[in-house]
This record gives sequence, C-alpha cells and structure tokens, in this order.
Amino acid sequence: MRQTLVAGNWKMNGSREGNRRLLDGIKAGISEGVNAEVVVCPPAIYIPQAARRLNESGIAWGGQDLSQHESGAYTGEISAAMLWDYQCKYVIIGHSERRSLHAETDAQVAEKFIAAQKTGLTPILCIGELLTEREAGETEAVVARQLDAVIDAAGIEAIAGCVIAYEPVWAIGTGKTASPQQAQDVHAFIRQRVAAQNVDVAEKVRILYGGSVKPDNAAELFAKADIDGGLIGGASLDAEGFLAICRAV
Ligand code: PEP
Repeated sequence: MRQTLVAGNWKMNGSREGNRRLLDGIKAGISEGVNAEVVVCPPAIYIPQAARRLNESGIAWGGQDLSQHESGAYTGEISAAMLWDYQCKYVIIGHSERRSLHAETDAQVAEKFIAAQKTGLTPILCIGELLTEREAGETEAVVARQLDAVIDAAGIEAIAGCVIAYEPVWAIGTGKTASPQQAQDVHAFIRQRVAAQNVDVAEKVRILYGGSVKPDNAAELFAKADIDGGLIGGASLDAEGFLAICRAV
C-alpha cells in the first residue's frame, strides 16, 4: 500500500514571522494525527527556519528546485548537497513555473532529477500539459515525453525512488481543478507507462495530483485509485486549509 503524501509548495511566498505562524500551525494540527506523510517546501532561504521548527515533528521539508551541478560558478543556484545539509528529504523538480519562466528543458529536468537522487533527496517530478495541449488531444503525449526524458536518463528503477506529480498547467493557481476522473485517467496512464517497463516500480511509485487542490475537493481526488496525494500550492499557505487537505486523506 502506498502512503499518501501531501506536499506544500509555498512558491515565492513567506516571511520569517509569517512562516513561524504557518509552520507552528501545521505542526500543531499534524500532532493531532493525519493519515499522510506531509512535506513543506518553502523558498530556499527559509529552509533553515523550517528545519529548526519542524525538527522531530514528523513533517518533512524540501526544496522547490535545485541546480543540476554539484558546485562551482553558478551564481544564485543551490545544490543538492546544500539542501541535504539542511536535512531536506524532498525536492520539487520540473515545476511548470520552472519550465515556463526559466526555460527548463526535459533534459535539464532529468539532470536535476539525477543530481537529487545521487545525494539522497527524493525528487518530486512535476509533469503536465498546457491547456492548448489538452485541447489538441496531446495530454498523454506530453506527459509521456516529460516522463520518458527522466526514465531514459536515470533508468526505470530510479522511478521507484521518486514521487511523480501530475500537474495540468491549466489548473495551477487558476482555481480550475481537473475533475477527479480527468486526473485519475492521466494518473492511470502514467502508472501504465511505468508498468510497461517495470510492474513493481509502477506499483510502488506515488503519483500526486496538483492544480488548485482545496479542502473541498481534496477528498474526492484522493479517493481515486491512482491518486496518491497532492502537491498543494496556494492552499498550503494557510495552516487550517492545508491541514484540512491533509485530513482529507
Ligand atoms: C503548484 O504550485 O504546484 C500548485 C499546484 O499550485 P495551486 O495548488 O495553487 O494550483
């Protein structure tokens, strides 16, 4: 049985004071018990704060991105080893905002994936189609291309040690959620694509849904057979909302 994972992507939001309240609020709520593994991904500069406040809370923390390079002349970048240094367990890779705003290619995403795993981090690999691609009937081709780029570079066994997040780009931050069936269909497609190469890996890998998940739609999404949790953006910035999503598991 795969354990459900609920991951909060704070994007470029937060302040020391606001984070303190948010982290303590989540910590207090989680201590009452939820059925999911929970991870928060603050902006990199606040990872040490998360590490301090969440220490021994049972809540994990992670990065929102990392460099594919180990170290050196890459101004502004953060390496896998640096995230590891602050006990990050997870790192989001290939988020659609990185792909669109920072022109990250499938090949670069694959390199980041490998850099993360080499250091011991668990990648949360984001894949998903644009609205134009969905309307053109290309959803499966797009997610297959994005997934295959990583499988080809890292090998199918590497998928067992990662989390995949299916995030239709048209649903991220827009308030438009994929219907539970639309999401389930793509999740099943992703799992079958992995299964075509390795059935055990397909059974193990957790596939999260992301895109305007809210307390009122989480339970229906998480109830689907191939949806193993969520990657939550906007709703993870409010402790009560995020906790309600965690409890929807
Ligand atoms: C995200 O940032 O990955 C995301 C899913 O955002 P939101 O929940 O706000 O749509």
